[in-house]
Amino acid sequence: MSTGSSETPETSKSTPETASDRYECRACGYVYEPSKGDGKRQVPPGTPFEELPEGWRCPVCGAQRRKFENIGAGVGTSGFAENMGYGFGVNGLTPSQKNLLIFGGLGLGLLFLLSLYGLQ
Ligand SMILES: [Zn+2]
Repeated sequence: MSTGSSETPETSKSTPETASDRYECRACGYVYEPSKGDGKRQVPPGTPFEELPEGWRCPVCGAQRRKFENIGAGVGTSGFAENMGYGFGVNGLTPSQKNLLIFGGLGLGLLFLLSLYGLQ
C-alpha cells in the first residue's frame, strides 16, 4: 500500500553527478549501477535509481526498492561505503538475518552436543 504518489520533485539539484548515484541492496549486496541499468528488467543503461519503474525489485533477491541504500557514485568517493560492504559481510545482513545466523548456530551447536552425548 503506497501513501500517495512517490514522485519527488527535483529539489536543490546542485551537481549533475547525483543522477549517477549507485544503490546497494541491503539484503544481498547487489549494487544497481545507473550506467549499466538492469538488463533483466528491461531497464536501459543510464536510468537513475529514482526513475526505476514502480514495481522494480532487486534482480538478485527480489528485495523492494526501499531496501536499497545510496552508496554514492562510486568514482571519486572516499570508499567508505565500499569498505562497509566488503569488510566482513556481516554489515550487509539485515537484523533478521543476523538473528537467523545466531540462533541457527546455537541450534546446530546444541544438536552437535546432543549427538556427541548420544554416541557415548
Ligand atoms: Zn538484493
